[in-house]
Order: sequence, then structure tokens, then C-alpha cells
Amino acid sequence: MTLTTHPPAADQLLARLREQVGSPEFGERVVAADQDGRMALGNVDVLRALGITGMPLDRSLGPEGPSVRLMIEVMETLGAVDPSTAVALNMHWVGARTLSRLPSFPRRDEALAAIAAHEATICGAFSNPSAEVDSRRARLSCRIEGDEVVLNGRAGFGSMSEAATYAMLGGMVEDSDPDDPQMVMTVGRLGEPGLVLHRNWSAMGMRGTGSNDIECRDLRIPLADCLVVPISSVQEGRGIDPAIVAFGVTAIWLGLSQAAVDFTVDHVTHRYGYMAEGTFNPTTAAYRADEAWAQLGLGNLDHWVGTGRVLLQAMADRIDAGEDVPAPDLVRTLFHLRRMAEEVALGVMKICGAHGYVTAQPLERMVRDLFGGVVMAWKTDQLQLTLGVGTLGRPIRFTGPAGS
Ligand SMILES: Cc1cc2nc3c(=O)[nH]c(=O)nc-3n(C[C@H](O)[C@H](O)[C@H](O)COP(=O)(O)OP(=O)(O)OC[C@H]3O[C@@H](n4cnc5c(N)ncnc54)[C@H](O)[C@@H]3O)c2cc1C
Repeated sequence: MTLTTHPPAADQLLARLREQVGSPEFGERVVAADQDGRMALGNVDVLRALGITGMPLDRSLGPEGPSVRLMIEVMETLGAVDPSTAVALNMHWVGARTLSRLPSFPRRDEALAAIAAHEATICGAFSNPSAEVDSRRARLSCRIEGDEVVLNGRAGFGSMSEAATYAMLGGMVEDSDPDDPQMVMTVGRLGEPGLVLHRNWSAMGMRGTGSNDIECRDLRIPLADCLVVPISSVQEGRGIDPAIVAFGVTAIWLGLSQAAVDFTVDHVTHRYGYMAEGTFNPTTAAYRADEAWAQLGLGNLDHWVGTGRVLLQAMADRIDAGEDVPAPDLVRTLFHLRRMAEEVALGVMKICGAHGYVTAQPLERMVRDLFGGVVMAWKTDQLQLTLGVGTLGRPIRFTGPAGS
């Protein structure tokens, strides 16, 4: 396996990103976005100005664009401070990469050029609307009428939508072959007649992702601006892409987990004494950092974050080296990083207690954001089950992100 080394342009990009995310203004926008339940639009502007939004299309970062290792390092760096914007950016990158693999059509070319110039971002709402739990009622329907495709329906969780110029749209063509239905993929221009952005994203954590519902109301798009293909051809062509999407998200969990552990180390170093004991006993008072139970808890977190980082970086390097990574290795890595996020979310709270739980401390938002990671498309138990099936020597696949 060859370890990935960054070209100089990539190192400079990372250095500039670290400087920006470390600035007080960047952090203040994260707090405001969380409180208001809106995207930190100023932080998206910073990413545009740095040349990060169009990164997947940037050939100055490598002959085939940036390495997976570079992309996860960007996500980890951003995820430590602004995980919501990082999730939105990751979903935008998914859209950019998907568009770049589609054959040319006018809207696709227009969006791709604007993204490459760091001028535009794209979102994709492919899940049930926020308040709709029955996926049978939540499909985007596509009707072909003459030389137009007419789209109707509402979808949810369109991360980045608040800052996006474009939306990926997709759905099944009505009355096509039920065994292999025709699928439409196209690009909507947010603000055009018939394409409605509902500013309804509201959640416990990851409140700044702008994951709004998007609705098509008789949205008419020229057939020449749509890709219409049998669904079987789309599934066959997916390759390693879902893994790259997944590992981008795990890098956000990693950055955020490290930030939560760093907060906890600082907290136990300064937290002195107990106020919640049944009997006041001054002989037990000490800094938490000097107590075995806190050290034990931190040891567990150090294990998860440290091993999570090693596994993720090794996986990125294998993908960058062109290895056809076997499904069990992909699943095991994703499973480990999900377990890391779960252990850290609960572990930091147990160590910091009530003084970490109050909104005066950033840990309160970090933990809600970590739970936002735990509820995303991949399921811990399902991954464990998949690993077990693989251990029995039976065939398994790496799937997701997908849901309804
Ligand atoms: C912050 C955030 C951003 C998102 N951004 C986007 C986006 O940009 N675009 C988009 O389309 N979607 C997005 N999503 C939606 C995401 O993909 C959803 O998780 C997905 O739609 C599934 O919804 P669900 O978790 O309610 O589903 P469910 O499948 O009902 O899962 C709920 C829970 O059930 C359990 N479970 C379900 N199936 C299994 C199984 N087979 N084995 C074991 N346990 C299982 C798990 O505990 C799981 O957490 C986002 C979600 C979040 C939280």
C-alpha cells in the first residue's frame, strides 16, 4: 500500500482552512447557526473563497482531483468546529461528484461549471420529508409529456439547501416497466417556478445543515435536460463512491469526537470537588483529572478516537492507491467509526456531568451534533449484522447512504 502524500497546493489549502476555522468569527457563526436553526452562511462563503466547495472537480489537487485522504482531512478539520456545515459540504460534494459522472446535458454542464468555479453549491433531498414517515406517500413522480418531464412530490433532508443554487432531482417515470423502471435524473435551479424550498429544517442537533424539504409542483424540465435510464444501470455503476461518501461523514464524526474529548480533558483538569453527594465529605474533593474513574473514562475515549483515526486514514490510503477494498473491510471501518461516535457522545457526558450539560458549555451542542451523526443513514446494528454474515463466509455488500 502506498501512503498518500498531498501535493503542495493541498497542503496550502489545509493550512488556510485550519487558520479560518480557528478564527473567532468562524466559531461565533457556528453558535449563532445552532441557536437560530439556520445554516452558517458566512462559513459557506469562507469555504467558497478558499476554493473548497469546488474541490472534487479541482485538477490542481491531483490528476483525478483530490485524494480521498485530502477530502477526509478537510472534513475532519471542519467537523471539529462546524460539523453542520461539514455535513452540508459533504452532501454538496456528493452532488458535484455525481454530476461529473453523468453524460453532458445543458443543466448538468451549467451546474458543474458554477461548482468548479466555487460559485454555486448543490443539494439532494432523497429522503422522506421531515414530517412524513410513510415512504409510500413520499415519492417524486416523473411524467413525460411531449418534450418535457413533469415532476411532482416532496422530499426531505436536503442538506445545504439553504445555501444552494441547484438541487439534484430524481424519481421513477410513471407507468414504466415495474421490473426495471425508468429513472429520471436532472438538476433543478432553486427559485425557478415549480421548485419550492421549504425552510422547515428543525432538529435536536446538526441544526445548521439546512436539511430542508424540497418540493416539485408541476416542475417542467425539458427532456433534453434530463437523464432517463433504467434503474438497473444506475445501481450497477456505483462502485466505490458510496464508501467515499460514507468516509467523508465519518471524518466529521472523528473531528467532532476529538473536539468533545479535548473539551473533556480541559473540563476534568479544572473541575474540582463534588456538589451532588449525599454527604458532604471534603476528604474526597480533588480535581477530576486526578480521579481514577475519570482517567478510566478518558482511556476509553482515547481508544475509540485514536483507533478510529488510524482505521479511517488507512482506508483512505487504500482507496487512493486504487485497491479494490473488500466489502468486509469497508463495513468494519464504518462500523468502528459509528461505535466511536456513540461511545464519545455518551462518554463525554458521563465524565463531565451536569456542568458539561448546560448550554453555557459548547459540549452541549457537540453532543447533540454527535447524535445527529448517530441517526444518519447507516445503522450500527445493521453494519454489525452484515459483518457477522461476512464472517460466515457469505457474500455481503457495502451499502448506503440510502433511506426513505
Ligand atoms: C443531519 C442529517 C443530514 C441528512 N442529510 C441528508 C441529505 O442531504 N439527503 C438525504 O436524502 N437524506 C439526508 N439525511 C437523511 C438520512 O439519510 C436518513 O437517516 C434516512 O433517510 C433514513 O431515515 P431514518 O433514520 O428515519 O430511517 P429508519 O430506517 O427508520 O431508521 C431509524 C432507526 O431504525 C433502526 N434501523 C433501521 N433499519 C435497521 C436495520 N436494518 N438494522 C438495524 N437497525 C435498523 C436504526 O436504529 C435507525 O437509526 C440526513 C439526516 C440527518 C440526520
